[in-house]
Amino acid sequence: MSTAIVTGGSRGIGRGIVLSLARAGYDVVVNYASNADAAKTVGAEVEALGRRALLVQADVSKAGDRARLIEETYGAFGRLDLLVSNAGVAPNVRADLLEAGEESFDRLIEINLKGPYFLIQQAANRMIAQEPGDSPPKIVIISSISAYTASLNRGDYCVAKAGLAMTTQLYAARLAEHGINVYEIRPGIIATDMTEGVTAKYDKLIFEDGITPIRRWGQPDDIGRAVVAVATDLLPFSTGQVIDVDGGFHLK
Ligand code: NDP
Repeated sequence: MSTAIVTGGSRGIGRGIVLSLARAGYDVVVNYASNADAAKTVGAEVEALGRRALLVQADVSKAGDRARLIEETYGAFGRLDLLVSNAGVAPNVRADLLEAGEESFDRLIEINLKGPYFLIQQAANRMIAQEPGDSPPKIVIISSISAYTASLNRGDYCVAKAGLAMTTQLYAARLAEHGINVYEIRPGIIATDMTEGVTAKYDKLIFEDGITPIRRWGQPDDIGRAVVAVATDLLPFSTGQVIDVDGGFHLK
């Protein structure tokens, strides 16, 4: 039996990943920050698919919470086969690059970059130490098209996502000798709570301007399928790979 942690698994892309993994046969640790009701709903959906779900409230920006997330996972399942680092926030302050303040920058970097960086370190050390499972352990990092698209009023978010791209490279290179492949998935514009407030703007960009050449919104399930593809050993000789799941956004 294989076990996955999905950070930010209670809503949006994370929920899509959790359900795709449950369908693929994984027991899933559904991590969330504060929305316990949403996590419970996802947990029930996992169990309806015949798999086990463990709900763990943990703020990925806090070292103690990250350690507890890993401990509770091993306590419940005894192993970890897949870490999906998905949790993230959009900037709550949008400000021009020449005016943006440090406080909101620090908070966003703690959640979107520092938290994943050290959670991966902790998970990898445990994966290295555990008995081999059905297939080698893997790590998937959810970054963004913002890793390479300069949005001048949310530099903090772009810097964090670009940092995740290098985080993927670093851990892929370091963990290869342990048989642990690391992948970066770059979602394009996906319909979730994060994009809800800007639906009209993105409708225009997608359907009129064709910024997403496959002219539709991405869905959480699109990202879930990509995670399952790498998790289930479809790319065993690829690591540090970037997988664009963006409807062709990167072609523009
Ligand atoms: P949502 O806002 O819909 O969901 C965010 C999830 O992350 C929730 O489960 C939330 O938990 C969790 N979360 C937030 N902060 C923390 C924290 N400090 N610790 C633990 N969990 C936390 O976002 P999306 O699903 O849209 O985004 C998921 C990821 O995909 C993010 O990394 C985002 O940057 C990235 N992405 C999204 C795109 C999009 O178009 N939507 C495009 C490209 C990348 P809770 O429910 O408790 O609040």
